[in-house]
Amino acid sequence: MKDISCAVLVVGAGPGGYVTAIRAGQLGLDTVIVEPRRLGGTCLNVGCIPSKALIHAADEFFHVCEMAQGRRTPGISLSAPSFDLAACQAWKAGIVNRLTNGVSELLKRARVKIVEGSARFRDGKTVEVATATGIQVIRARDVVIATGSEAVALPSLPFGGRVLSSTEALALDAPPQRLVVVGAGYIGLELGTAFRKLGSEVTVVEAAERILPQYEAELTRPVAARLRELGVAVHLGAKVRGWAGERMLTMETAGGADERLPADAVLVTVGRRPATEGWGREELVLAMNGPFIAVDEQCRTSMRGVYAVGDVTGEPMLAHRAMAQGEMVAGIIAGEKRSWDKVAVPAVCFTDPEIVTAGLSAARARAAGIETKTGRFPLTANGRALSTESADGFVAVVARADNHLILGMQAVGAGVSELSAAFGLALEMGARLEDVGATIHAHPTLGECLQEAALRALGHAVHI
Ligand code: FAD
Ligand code: NAD
Repeated sequence: MKDISCAVLVVGAGPGGYVTAIRAGQLGLDTVIVEPRRLGGTCLNVGCIPSKALIHAADEFFHVCEMAQGRRTPGISLSAPSFDLAACQAWKAGIVNRLTNGVSELLKRARVKIVEGSARFRDGKTVEVATATGIQVIRARDVVIATGSEAVALPSLPFGGRVLSSTEALALDAPPQRLVVVGAGYIGLELGTAFRKLGSEVTVVEAAERILPQYEAELTRPVAARLRELGVAVHLGAKVRGWAGERMLTMETAGGADERLPADAVLVTVGRRPATEGWGREELVLAMNGPFIAVDEQCRTSMRGVYAVGDVTGEPMLAHRAMAQGEMVAGIIAGEKRSWDKVAVPAVCFTDPEIVTAGLSAARARAAGIETKTGRFPLTANGRALSTESADGFVAVVARADNHLILGMQAVGAGVSELSAAFGLALEMGARLEDVGATIHAHPTLGECLQEAALRALGHAVHI
């Protein structure tokens, strides 16, 4: 097989890799991307997209069940709704196909060459790819590592059989009758809630003292309350020890006692780790930042001409961070003067209700020695939230006390994920409380809560 020489070689076609490659191609760079699996990486195939499709389906089913029981939207009556997860999987696969085919089209349109196979580094400029037709050697002037991340396993519960990672959980064709979720972080609570709504008995076991420990406690309280309402059992400060029988787990409770948990399946979601093994990292001289590849503000690694983007480079391991890094790196390789100057990477947790944050919380700002002004507006005072039967939660804004520059925004509530755009924009544009307070927000929308939170911080909210 003839060797390939190119300007840019991208290893991995997840959000970090494919965005780097598309943008590099658009900028006229001769680009090759290598991927052994389907284009789109974790996010499109087994992460963001399929999980949000499942969460949506579970919400829809749960709502019609509530309607059938006369517990939602007076005036609607229904009889005995049913749910077929296998049929739903086919619909979900259709969405994933459409998106991965879209990535393929975009790469082709940008004249990026796609090589199917696993890349292994020989040195910082050369990889060999085991393709279906033999070894393909690729040489490049610049290389971008975008190998992503993988689920962390527990030694006492290795993946396989009844022990599922998010990937297997998203592919089930029937909800497990009794599901134990280990880890109350993003995936555990997003998927655990969805399976509860589809009829599983769900028990969550979390080692920390509260759910979603990466978020401020006040944001997670409505989520904890909803889990109780849904009948999800949550054990905090607890650890699953392992199997005690075919469908029986043992758990160490917060008090150190042994407890048994019946389980037809266990979903282990205790975090993800960067994919730094198995592709010849040992052939390179890459400085590391803990388990991650160390990068500077231009995503350059410690080797000249070798960049890294996405989950392999650190927290937050989010698709939009990976994409933003990829877009920047393509520009840098093409000669643009760019560096990572983002004010914030918004984060959304698609729990019930949703949580969204961008920038600093009041506590973090205080810890950084900044004097703040804060405003909070409850969804119970918002017409849109009330008229859509989802008024649990609030929107909060944190600003500097001296010049009112907005430092951060947070919200919890149904549908608040869409506020992430307004949060991100306000922070990147350097908005002050007065800017958001003076902006007309359409009525009735959840966005009005943001305006009112800003006005409240200024001491003159109107609707509260
Ligand atoms: P990945 O998407 O992991 O892609 C890496 C790619 O590299 C893979 O396709 C892999 O096959 C390939 N690769 C690895 N080794 C090689 C090699 N040697 N040669 C060639 N290719 C290789 N993030 C969000 O922002 N929002 C969400 O809602 C969200 N939901 C999620 C839900 C779940 C269940 C999971 C698991 C993750 C979720 N994430 C979410 C995280 C998101 O998926 C990741 O942050 C994102 O995919 C990272 O992109 P990446 O390009 O760095 O890596
Ligand atoms: P996570 O880091 O969000 O949560 C892991 C949880 O497991 C933590 O609460 C931790 O305290 C707990 N834990 C760790 N070890 C434990 C043990 N032995 N027993 C019980 N609990 C234990 O990890 P995740 O849910 O696996 O998700 C991985 C990553 O994927 C996230 O950090 C995020 O970057 C990404 N993700 C993002 C989204 C989103 O943006 N909406 C959705 C899903 C995943």
